[in-house]
Amino acid sequence: MSFILHGIGVSGGIAIGHAHLTAAATLEVMHYLIPKNQINKEIKRLDQAFATVRAEFEALQSSVTNGPALAEFSAFLELHHMILDDPTLAEAARGIIAQTQCNAEWALTQQKDALLAQFEAIDDAYLRERKTDVEQVVKRILKALLGYPGYHPPPSKHLGDHILVAHDLSPADIMQYKPHQFIAFLTDMGSLTSHTAIVARSLNIPSVVALHHAHQLILEGDSLIVDGNLGVIIVNPDKYVLDEYRLRQSQLELEKQKLKRLKNVKAVTLDGTGIDLLANIELPGDLEQVKENGATGIGLFRSEFLFLNRDDLPGEEEQFEAYRAVATEMNGKPVTIRTFDLGADKNLKHTTQITANPALGLRAIRLSLSEPQMFHTQLRAILRASLYGQIKILIPMLSNVTEVFQTLLLIDRAKQALHNDGIDFDEHIQIGGMIEVPAAALSLEAFLQKLDFLSIGTNDLIQYTLAVDRVDDTVAYLYDPFHPAVLWLISRVIQMANRLKKPVSICGEMAGDIQFTRLLLGIGLTQFSMYPAQILVVKNEILKSNLPDITPLAHKIIRTIHPEKMHDLLAKLNS
Ligand code: PEP
Ligand code: MG
Repeated sequence: MSFILHGIGVSGGIAIGHAHLTAAATLEVMHYLIPKNQINKEIKRLDQAFATVRAEFEALQSSVTNGPALAEFSAFLELHHMILDDPTLAEAARGIIAQTQCNAEWALTQQKDALLAQFEAIDDAYLRERKTDVEQVVKRILKALLGYPGYHPPPSKHLGDHILVAHDLSPADIMQYKPHQFIAFLTDMGSLTSHTAIVARSLNIPSVVALHHAHQLILEGDSLIVDGNLGVIIVNPDKYVLDEYRLRQSQLELEKQKLKRLKNVKAVTLDGTGIDLLANIELPGDLEQVKENGATGIGLFRSEFLFLNRDDLPGEEEQFEAYRAVATEMNGKPVTIRTFDLGADKNLKHTTQITANPALGLRAIRLSLSEPQMFHTQLRAILRASLYGQIKILIPMLSNVTEVFQTLLLIDRAKQALHNDGIDFDEHIQIGGMIEVPAAALSLEAFLQKLDFLSIGTNDLIQYTLAVDRVDDTVAYLYDPFHPAVLWLISRVIQMANRLKKPVSICGEMAGDIQFTRLLLGIGLTQFSMYPAQILVVKNEILKSNLPDITPLAHKIIRTIHPEKMHDLLAKLNS
């Protein structure tokens, strides 16, 4: 049966392919008691889940038949098999169901917690580390109990046209899927500026989020059309709709090809003002796209992605190599490395501390200052890499100028440590701050005195100004970049920085959205940093813009507090 689903398109383009369903990023385990006469049935349900996972392991084993990772992968599977078959897991969980009449999921998590507590007490570091494996196996069994689709290798008859359908994907999950070459991503959860959406955009494939029930309604192997521009999914389309979309797809491809001609054209407005078009990246692997789209540098390297999906922390050497690789590849063009913005929706793998308001908690620079050793390691790595190109340091989520003082002190300490070790670095490395908290925008003078440059993180600035969680799609309708308070704050920061001749860029999603290009140019922005695939689209817009024409109108828009009037003026500006 054909049907249509509506969500939020977070990465444009059209994909036509087949659904591949995956499990959710987080699991919610219900706790309830079962009647005495249902105990055997509940135990059977548990046994069935173990059997499902056993079958999944077998499918996994046979899906990987060669390659350098085979030995390691087999050892890993063997270990997980052993954990699965260990009586301390299944038998104990069965016992808990029989004795306390709790449901299978609850029994299993109780037994997992008991096992993990035993692991904690082990002296041997290697064995202690195995608790992660226990957690992973239990998660798989829970997924089987909760009815999530497990691992099954994508059906080979649709090879190369898989569309990943998930209930929710964390930014870390989506990074893991990066090498799998899906042609589109769909999720029930999510919002336009969540980090999951940002990573999906960096993959440059159509993505639609906030679909609510897609994961339940779409079946494995369903034929799908994903319209990432409109946020529409057509499930099992008929031949006519398919033909129509294939035509649209080739038109879009043609437009993309045409834009490629602009790759080496300088981004200059009609009146001759040069504009910097920089790229946002997550990992060194994104550089290919950066070059393909002719970016004039890296405006935002989200270094925290080096810390995700792993049990340990990246050491100084590993980080140094990553930063050096980017600096070397960019060949003298600026590379702005944001110090790790962990916390909120990007957590280290074993983070257990869940606070009520993570976006307002120990995130970004707050976390760095509370973990000075981890921060020191990163600062040393960045400083060392600074010899290989034009590296700059960017501090995320500043809210209080004291954080700038503390960070500068720690940078001086890292510099001193390198001096003591006889290691060279760029003594004059520039240090900038992200303006993404209204308090920083409103007390900007103090920040400007201490920093070499600013970068406005509009994704967070909107979230914090409007008190709207950027990852919560139930309040997505309130997440409004056009809100007069947001526009006023942005223009204040740009104008003040320009007045004091301190470089200022925007690295939030607004920089890559052509609805805002002229408005931002008109209020004095000359540095835009965005996901690489959008650079040529924005360049095209810049080449058609004339600052003397747009500046008065842009300022009028900033002063307008009536939404309707503002949208009318914006339409005029963009016409
Ligand atoms: C922002 O907040 O606008 C930004 C660029 O940082 P991130 O999206 O990584 O929070
Ligand atoms: Mg931010």
